[in-house]
Amino acid sequence: MPNWKRWILSLYYHGTLPLRMVRRAQAVAAGRAPILIFTWHRIADDAANAWTTSNDTFARAIGWLERRFDLVSLAEAQERIRGESLKRPAACVTFDDGYAENCQQALPLLIRRRIPVTYFVTAGSVLTGEAFAHDRQLGQSFAPNTLKQLRELAAFGVEIGAHTRSHPNLGQVRDEATLYDEVVTARDDLSAALEQPIRYFAFPFGQHEHLNRRAFEMARDAGYEGAVSAYGGYHYPGESDAFHLQRMCADGPLVKLKNWASFDPWKDWKIQSYSLADRTEVPATAGAASL
Ligand SMILES: [Zn+2]
Repeated sequence: MPNWKRWILSLYYHGTLPLRMVRRAQAVAAGRAPILIFTWHRIADDAANAWTTSNDTFARAIGWLERRFDLVSLAEAQERIRGESLKRPAACVTFDDGYAENCQQALPLLIRRRIPVTYFVTAGSVLTGEAFAHDRQLGQSFAPNTLKQLRELAAFGVEIGAHTRSHPNLGQVRDEATLYDEVVTARDDLSAALEQPIRYFAFPFGQHEHLNRRAFEMARDAGYEGAVSAYGGYHYPGESDAFHLQRMCADGPLVKLKNWASFDPWKDWKIQSYSLADRTEVPATAGAASL
């Protein structure tokens, strides 16, 4: 995020903070405490791209969240979303793609503090060791996690999730066989290699235009417990169907996460939920695409 943008966001965040605090207190008092789901990609100190967050920023973000939220698993989040009321705000930590650098400091920090985390990996990269296509396009080549690393993470309680085989834009995939391979067979291959079940699916990029209703159906039919997007948005108790979980991208400066986490009234108003029933495509996006 460029410095000027960070400054404007910081001014906006601090200027609207009193309003946010009042809204949060009212929501909690009414049993409408929100449930937030964040996602990061790569935690490393080389500032290599927009989806890399420094170890220091990540550690501060986790500390900030820990002081304000119950940090829970996706399964616990779904339970709270399906519940009738909630008095304590909750947040989830997830990662997408599967960058090897995350094993250096970020994941050990979460494991040490016993913070639940769901770690979505792209099966093709993990199984072949090939760098991610979106990095190769930029001339970058970061190592994906190995199966050995993922088995170790799972042994420490990290939930491994599926993030397709080749990280395509599923919004543009119309061929049923291709879609099935990306959503279901890739999950099965990963599950067999790790010798453990995989319960959650993450759409690559995660904005409205990258989602696909048929993929949601396949995921549900194939026994996934949930599928996550990344166009933002808050969950509240009382939602009848918590299969689709909306996440917020937390890559970048801490103020971006704080802005999301303190219930940005602008985003709350602007973001439209992706409807699984309505067959009309909704092209709305909120912010930069996640990976
Ligand atoms: Zn991704």
